[in-house]
Amino acid sequence: MTIRTTGARYTASNTASNTARHTSKTLSLARAFLLCTIVASTGCAISTQQEVQMGQNYAAQVEKELPIVRDPEIVRYINVLGDSLAGVTDDRSLTWHFSVVDAKEINAFAIPGGYIFVNRGLIERATNLAEVAGVLGHEIGHVTRRHSIKQMQKAQGANMGMTLACILTNICNSGLAQTGIQLAAGGVFAKFSRDDESEADAEGVKTVIRAHLDPAGIPQMFRILLDERKSRPDGVDAFFLSHPLEENRIAASQQMIATYPAAALKGLTQDSPNFQAFKKRLLSLPPSPPTKK
Ligand SMILES: [Zn+2]
Repeated sequence: MTIRTTGARYTASNTASNTARHTSKTLSLARAFLLCTIVASTGCAISTQQEVQMGQNYAAQVEKELPIVRDPEIVRYINVLGDSLAGVTDDRSLTWHFSVVDAKEINAFAIPGGYIFVNRGLIERATNLAEVAGVLGHEIGHVTRRHSIKQMQKAQGANMGMTLACILTNICNSGLAQTGIQLAAGGVFAKFSRDDESEADAEGVKTVIRAHLDPAGIPQMFRILLDERKSRPDGVDAFFLSHPLEENRIAASQQMIATYPAAALKGLTQDSPNFQAFKKRLLSLPPSPPTKK
């Protein structure tokens, strides 16, 4: 299958690269080819199976490029929490994979097929379970609503050369290539429109409520992010690149929550000792390696 061929080229070109920047550019190129090959070879809607294959390839690459927290307790907790959220909203029975990226910057991103990455820095900055659950619910929403896939399907109608140029300039002209795959992830798979962001917020609210968690964690986390942007802009760049966020999004998410009947919002969990133990353990691990620039 075409996807497999592209995957091999992906690995070969990666091995040939010497520097992080070069690797990132090569990966961007390879990813653009991957996108185009898939789009060209399908000629119609991208199936869930193709989405999962693409996600697997890409997630494997991300795992090679980014430091991932391998501590078994951290891995277990984030997956139990993530599965408990995905399980109440995913109607395609995807196999979900949640990973904590060992980076102090605040970021989270989703890869089609059910791969969610959340930075250690985001979890360490969160004050409670509901805030982290809100972020996961939002990222899960990008996958269940197939935002990246829809972008790719839209590109099918366009001239292939233009599509390639578009994808490449998106990466190359915005300086994303220089800041590693983490940001490149934001450039290709997670550069969402405001409508997509809003839809993912609504999905996040719905999902956390279904999981009996407090959706107020969503606007709370936005507040933490906006405050962080004021005090330490560098630390949240990646998140803001892939997730446009303004003050009014806080109000918008509060309005989404207000559309639920009071009874549905009663007695929801905001925090848990397990979450605090998880966060404490994360804080106790050796410092994150410096982020590749
Ligand atoms: Zn988003």
